[in-house]
This record gives sequence, C-alpha cells and structure tokens, in this order.
Amino acid sequence: MTGFGTDHLPYGIFSVDGGPRRIGVRLGDGVLALDELTDRPELAEKSLNPLMALGPQVWRETHEQVTWLAEDDSPTIPLSDVVMHLPFEVADYVDFYASEHHATNVGRIMRPDGEALTANWKHLPIGYHGRAGTIVPSGTPVIRPTGQRHADDIGPSRRLDLEAELGFVVGTPSPPGEPVAASSLADHVFGVVGLNDWSARDLQAWEYVPLGPFLGKSFATSISHWVTPLSALDAAWCDLPGQDPRPAAYLAPDEARGLDIDVEIELAGEVVSRPSYASTYWGPAQMLAHLTSNGASLRTGDLFASGTISGPERDQRGCLLELSWGGQEPFTAGGRERTFLEDGDEVVLRYSAPSTSGGRLTLGEVRGSISPARG
Ligand code: MN
Repeated sequence: MTGFGTDHLPYGIFSVDGGPRRIGVRLGDGVLALDELTDRPELAEKSLNPLMALGPQVWRETHEQVTWLAEDDSPTIPLSDVVMHLPFEVADYVDFYASEHHATNVGRIMRPDGEALTANWKHLPIGYHGRAGTIVPSGTPVIRPTGQRHADDIGPSRRLDLEAELGFVVGTPSPPGEPVAASSLADHVFGVVGLNDWSARDLQAWEYVPLGPFLGKSFATSISHWVTPLSALDAAWCDLPGQDPRPAAYLAPDEARGLDIDVEIELAGEVVSRPSYASTYWGPAQMLAHLTSNGASLRTGDLFASGTISGPERDQRGCLLELSWGGQEPFTAGGRERTFLEDGDEVVLRYSAPSTSGGRLTLGEVRGSISPARG
C-alpha cells in the first residue's frame, strides 16, 4: 500500500529528460501522463491553473476520466524517471494561525508575562499575506536567510525553523465585493498540498511588531509536488474541537468542520513530532470565508495555509520553536541535542488521511535541506 491508489490520484507537473512540463497524476510509484491519455486541452498545459480555473464540475468529470484510466491499467512512467515541478502558478499566498495549541505555545514563549492568546484570536482566524513568488516545490534547497537579528546585529539567522502546515489551493476565482460563503469551500478549493513555512525566528521576533511577519518568512515556503483533490478527502472531514465563544455567523459555527489529517515531522532522519490537523481550532471553510469577508476577490492559484499544526501534547508540536520551547529545552534528533535548524539538516513533512475506500491516503510529502547563508 503506497497511499497513492485509485482512491487518491493527486495531480502534479512533471518532465522527462529535460523535456516540456506535463500534467500527470500519481498512481503507486509512477505517473500517469494525462496529456497522452486524453485529448482535453487543459490537460495539455504546463501547470494546473487552466484546469483549476474551470471549476468543480470539470474537476469531477476529469477525476472520473482519470480514475477510469487508472483502473484500466494505463501505462505509467516510473517516478525515478521524472523530475517534479511546482504544480501550479501561485497567485496570492495567505498564511493563517489557526491552531490554538500552536498560538498558545507561541504566546507563552514570546510573551511570558501576557495573555497567551490575543483578544481577537477566538473571534477571527488570524492570518497574514505572504510572498507567492518564493513558494518552491519540495526538494528545493533552502538558503539560510541573513538579516537584522536585533539592533546593530545583522547576520545569518541563528534560529531557523520549520512550520508543518497544510495548504489549500484555490481553483475557481470570485468577483470583487462578493464574500465567499463558508458553505462554498468545495466550489472554490481544488485541492490540498503539504506546506513548510520556513521561519527565521530571530528576524521575525525583531521585525514583527506591529505589522506581523515579513522577511523572517518571505525567503522560502515549500509545498508538495502533489495536489490532493479535495474530493479525495471526503472521508477525512471531522468535527472541529469546539469553538467558544461562538464565532460570527459568516464563520458558519454550526457547519464548520475540520480535516482528520495526520502529520509527521522528520528532522535529520528521525521523526520528532506527530501533530494532527484534526485538533486545529479554525477549519478551512472558515479561513476561506474570512479571507474574502471584506470583498477581496479570489484568483486561480491562490494558496491559503493552515498555520503551524500543533496538537496538545509535547510530541505533537509543529515547529522547533515549540519543540525546544524557545531554544530553552533542547530535544534530541539525529543523535544530538537540538534547538533550531543547522546547515545540512533535511526536514521531511509527511501527511496521511482516511480514504473513502477504507484505507489511507498519503498526501504529497514536503522535503527541504538547509544550505549555508550566502556571502
Ligand atoms: Mn506559518
């Protein structure tokens, strides 16, 4: 069982021997090339955006056709023979802060004398607009950023971190001035990717007051090669852990659900944490409703992410800031005591979810290694 059976069929962009970029779906340890197996023009493109723009009815028809091809033993190209690329052109990128366990831990670490959660936290899903142009596919090396660590202190980040997250990929656009209802998630969201929001904590701590994250996060964000269609996650929907106080009506407090997706963080060859997305406070439909509630329009290729996924337990923390409690409590990985990322470290994020077939899906992994700072 690979988690990449006919109940999953995630989409990606691949090439062979330096040839053109092509659309395929993953089936087992191979790629089913959709340009050769269909005559659909949107499947002969070099990114998923044209397909994503066509909306949920076309996505369903495509999925049915692809499922038929996959079940018909159509030939696949071995994964070892392909190079994978960024699966879609990223339009705008928003990152939320939707895990109460993460926000509480970070509040305690960064503001030990204040309230852990800010006054707004349970009334709206907090987020910030990130940098779309530095979103890179899994496997891309991450260069340690240099910047202001404090006043008169410029140099390579000493507190480079990972953030285990999920990303939601928007296909269908929306017009300006028309908020997208929480009930319309499946009309707009094409699929889900794994996401690592690399974060330089020293740069971030110095720069973030009062406007939020900036250069401490904009140097790189990694996403998986494979986009899991939202419809493949039909069996993964679950109740949210519970929202008190009751959110505003546009955040659909009675209908909002979460996704039961297990996350695994590997550092230097060792699994150091296993958070569950099911424990996250704000659901994806609530994040989408909130980010359009002011009338902001959606574009094909927009990406909004969950924020760091942390569970209630110590071994469910979704970033090294939490795992090392601000660097004060080193943990062990790769046989050594660790706090933040070192040059040469490789991070792998893995995800799995229940499938409609009764088994489990493996979502696309997110891999990245740290290269030394330049200059
Ligand atoms: Mn983040």
